[in-house]
Amino acid sequence: MNSYDVAVIGSGPGGYVAAIRCAQLGMKTAIIEKYSTLGGTCLNVGCIPSKALLDSSHHYEDAVKHFEDHGIDIPGEIKVNLEKMVARKQSVVDQTTGGIDFLMKKNNIDVYQGVGSFKDATHIVISGEKEEEIEAKNTIIATGSKPSSLPFINIDKERVITSTEALKLKEVPKHLIVIGGGVIGLELGQVYKRLGAEVTVVEYMDRIIPTMDSGLSKELNKVLKKQKFTINTSHKVKSVERVGDEVVVKADNKKGEEVELRGDYCLVSVGRRPFTDGLNPEAAGVKITDRGQIEVNDHLQTSVSNIYAIGDVVKGAMLAHKAEEEGVFVAETIAGQKPHIDYNLIPGVVYTWPEVAAVGQTEEQLKDKGVAYKVGQFPMRALGRSRASMDLDGFVKILADKSTDEILGVHMIGARAADMIAEAVVAMEYRASAEDVSRMSHAHPTFTEAIKEAALAATDDRALHV
Ligand code: FAD
Ligand code: NAD
Repeated sequence: MNSYDVAVIGSGPGGYVAAIRCAQLGMKTAIIEKYSTLGGTCLNVGCIPSKALLDSSHHYEDAVKHFEDHGIDIPGEIKVNLEKMVARKQSVVDQTTGGIDFLMKKNNIDVYQGVGSFKDATHIVISGEKEEEIEAKNTIIATGSKPSSLPFINIDKERVITSTEALKLKEVPKHLIVIGGGVIGLELGQVYKRLGAEVTVVEYMDRIIPTMDSGLSKELNKVLKKQKFTINTSHKVKSVERVGDEVVVKADNKKGEEVELRGDYCLVSVGRRPFTDGLNPEAAGVKITDRGQIEVNDHLQTSVSNIYAIGDVVKGAMLAHKAEEEGVFVAETIAGQKPHIDYNLIPGVVYTWPEVAAVGQTEEQLKDKGVAYKVGQFPMRALGRSRASMDLDGFVKILADKSTDEILGVHMIGARAADMIAEAVVAMEYRASAEDVSRMSHAHPTFTEAIKEAALAATDDRALHV
């Protein structure tokens, strides 16, 4: 039987990064993955394929709607070739997952294909083409998550679909009904909106992206409505039924009136659930919470001291970069180091266009905690860079402590916000004040000038360009 210092179960961004860091720290490491490709949800059916389709559909929309404004005339009709678009997406996925194979070999990590199942706290049975057993001094559970649904919905994977199917449709829907106005619903909704579908979002809460700062929800709602999305907030879905090639969704609106929607596809994007099927954690004595997550302490250690858990299968934001940080954290903990993660500084991004990005506390959270804060906000449309590219929507908002001026939260919506948020993370990691950021030179013309201007506005209301 092969014996390891560390076995990692699951090869998503949490698992494969944990395995690399363990190997870097000199530990004999194995990784177990039930699918034939490594990379987990993120690389196979999550972050990477969704961004590939967002990019392709963005190019198409630019060609159809914006090239003319830039003085580019295209003779003839511009058409979507969905089959080719989906094939390009798949080749991006294949290259990326192939990259993980390379990284495993480079770091001498043994890869096992099959379902990893605990026999006890130090032995794992792997059921793949053949059944194998390995011994591990330490195990890291990184089994991730799966789409969740509502009890009355039958996901038939043809017309009533999750994100996984939405990434490989064979036709552009005529009318896509999206249940859940969160990250997946809006990103994939925008892909198909750009490709020509009518898109109706049905959201239970009173605003889309309800966990983000309400200013971002409001601005994104406004922009999506301009893009001709239909957005129904405060709607409680009651039933989803397939009738032939149609899907009928019934919901109660705020007034309690029944609303009926008919579409040809319905994307169910109401969140994801932790995944532990087949893992048999009980055999090792690992506890599961009421929400189905693996229970962990502040060191990401489970109820069994040599077994750790990270990523979507534990509490916290379901984000690839959060899973990666936790992978490194656990590897370093096992190696006897004292790592640290500041969960307040894990940024969140929605890759719609304009992009939405945030880090730190929202206004709602600061109000709840009774923290006295000041706000500096700057509109993207006031930037020369925004006018040059005709990306005028959005703003940057900086929340700073009223007395110390320390930055407590940064919330932005606009072109390239996903990349710009890194500056806010660095500033907050070093506990910068709004004035610190306002005194740093930002290249002109760039979208990042909005960060400097918002910092000036927060410092003492002295933005320069409004
Ligand atoms: P996963 O990536 O889910 O990996 C878990 C792996 O474990 C899987 O490969 C699974 O097959 C394997 N596994 C499970 N049980 C076993 C077992 N018993 N034995 C062997 N293997 C097992 N996050 C972002 O930060 N940015 C984004 O842009 C983004 N976009 C997304 C888009 C979509 C459409 C979706 C669905 C998700 C997106 N996410 C994004 C979320 C991100 O994918 C997850 O947060 C991330 O993948 C979690 O990583 P993980 O390692 O915890 O688990
Ligand atoms: P989400 O939590 O972002 O959004 C789910 C939405 O569905 C919420 O707005 C919620 O209020 C709504 N909802 C819940 N129940 C409902 C009901 N009965 N009727 C109508 N609406 C309902 O979840 P998601 O969009 O499914 O994404 C799952 C996870 O994947 C998220 O945790 C997210 O962090 C991650 N993800 C991240 C990215 C990114 O980082 N860009 C992209 C995609 C997915």
